[in-house]
Amino acid sequence: MFDYLIVGAGYAGSVLAERLASQTGKKVLICDRRNHIGGNAYDHYNDDGMLVHKYGPHIFHTNSFEVFQYLSQFTKWRPYEHRVRADLDGKLLPIPINRDTVNRLYGLNLQTDEECAAFYDSVAEKLEKIRTSEDVVVSKVGRELYEKFFRGYTRRHWGLDPSELDASVAGRIPARTNTDDRYFADTYQFMPLHGYTRMFERMLDHPNITIVLNTDYRDLLSFVPFKQMIYTGPVDEFFDYRYGKLPYLTLEFKHETHDRPVYQPAPVVNYPVERVPYDRITEFKYLTGQEHPKTSIVYEYPHPHVDGDPYYPIPRPENTELYRKYKALADATPGMYFVGRLATYQYYNMDQVTAQALAMFKRIVTGQTATVAGATTMATPPPRRVVRPAMPWERDAAITAVGANGGASAGGATAAGAGTGGR
Ligand SMILES: Cc1cc2nc3c(=O)[nH]c(=O)nc-3n(C[C@H](O)[C@H](O)[C@H](O)COP(=O)(O)OP(=O)(O)OC[C@H]3O[C@@H](n4cnc5c(N)ncnc54)[C@H](O)[C@@H]3O)c2cc1C
Repeated sequence: MFDYLIVGAGYAGSVLAERLASQTGKKVLICDRRNHIGGNAYDHYNDDGMLVHKYGPHIFHTNSFEVFQYLSQFTKWRPYEHRVRADLDGKLLPIPINRDTVNRLYGLNLQTDEECAAFYDSVAEKLEKIRTSEDVVVSKVGRELYEKFFRGYTRRHWGLDPSELDASVAGRIPARTNTDDRYFADTYQFMPLHGYTRMFERMLDHPNITIVLNTDYRDLLSFVPFKQMIYTGPVDEFFDYRYGKLPYLTLEFKHETHDRPVYQPAPVVNYPVERVPYDRITEFKYLTGQEHPKTSIVYEYPHPHVDGDPYYPIPRPENTELYRKYKALADATPGMYFVGRLATYQYYNMDQVTAQALAMFKRIVTGQTATVAGATTMATPPPRRVVRPAMPWERDAAITAVGANGGASAGGATAAGAGTGGR
């Protein structure tokens, strides 16, 4: 009998599998319906022998020493500071907007942070209340920069105007007064030296861990005995979409290899103009440091509001409200832990999911009762009738060893807070 069935072999599932197996001697079965481990961070060598990220570029960055130290057990690192350019009227300009962006766009010669701050101040719109993404940006850098850099990109990416999106979405995009053109400002900015998949392989390489791929967990429920389940898939799917689907943005990735050493002058070029059908082009060599006579790139085409792989939760108040209903169901489900980006309907970076899983591990071993990672303090909800696939211990009276960890969210469990925003 397995102590845990872990659904999903991405960061959330793999970190918990590794911790439970290596630190508590538990026997773990980890399954994924994809044909690989690593979740969305999966990378592989393509037919031309180039290391590419199947689900779009993944750049590791964190402010958390604990997360960095933890992952360092499974990989060596390559220092890498990410840089992005926006293609605007043929000019490739630094993004996030900084002093160079402003100088080059307007032919100015702003020399200091103060001069640049004064420029933003002169164009910023004074608003009484900041509610939407549009408000955030126009109140910071004015309407013209908003329209040039943000409006079209956001409309294409989310299928929504920035005026319809939570302030938190644009809150992720700083405007700088200095000339720092790094995309992230975190303390630790590295890429796994031999790629993410190699790191996951080492994480899951433990005699107490069994990996099953190409398998939906529902196909295992009837014949694999286990005591508790950790679920990192979409929470609405787990409850058979009882309250309707949680909306996600999905992406289509178009990979290409070109017969030349370099394709573009920056790791990522964003396309802010709405009529361009893709968000950005990434050239992997910059990220991986691989030397090769050819080069591989990926285009990202966003598809809001259509069925496909769930990538980005769409941050609107009604979606948060819908998630709350699913979270209440999750909180009321005994013998289950919900963790990771899909199970908690949150945009989390890799470091944040790692921190969330490490925090969940601590709660599991100390016997605390929060079943949803990142649960905030709330009163004990009344018992609910739960509609979901029947668990083995409910169908099979012989399997009874379910931990007493169900029920309400525990107070004091906090969301993982490592890293900065941005993807
Ligand atoms: C395009 C893109 C770019 C990103 N770039 C960055 C970046 O640069 N930096 C960064 O830090 N983060 C980035 N992220 C975020 C990063 O991908 C996530 O933080 C991380 O992968 C989340 O890990 P997870 O384990 O929560 O989820 P996932 O990686 O999604 O893993 C969940 C797994 O569960 C499996 N699963 C679901 N349901 C079932 C089921 N019923 N049965 C079996 N298996 C199931 C899925 O197949 C999946 O493999 C990016 C995300 C996207 C989409």
